Amino acid sequence: MNERQLAEDILAIVLENAVKHEAQKVRTISVLVGELSDIKMSVLTQAFVELAANTLAAHAELDITYIPAVVYCHECKKRMTVEPSKFICSVCGSTRLEILTGDSLQIEDIEFD
Ligand SMILES: [Zn+2]
Repeated sequence: MNERQLAEDILAIVLENAVKHEAQKVRTISVLVGELSDIKMSVLTQAFVELAANTLAAHAELDITYIPAVVYCHECKKRMTVEPSKFICSVCGSTRLEILTGDSLQIEDIEFD
């Protein structure tokens, strides 16, 4: 996972929205991070702080919420949430699971001043 690239993408989206809202500055950026993602949030946050310096998003707070992964079992055709440490179907025990959500990051909300 390239945290710096991800931080750049987040910043671009945030700044685009800030301009649209004619914001003075960005206060909080709420992000949803899948529990199965391999994003190192400390690295991402550090990269974001560096990139956001001298922009409207300088001093913005990253509010991180972890969301459980939802998978689809190809064996018993059911959807369920799984723990990152226990990647098997809770119904039939199969490991033929497809990740539907929970392996990525998305911006949920941005607050401006
Ligand atoms: Zn199953």
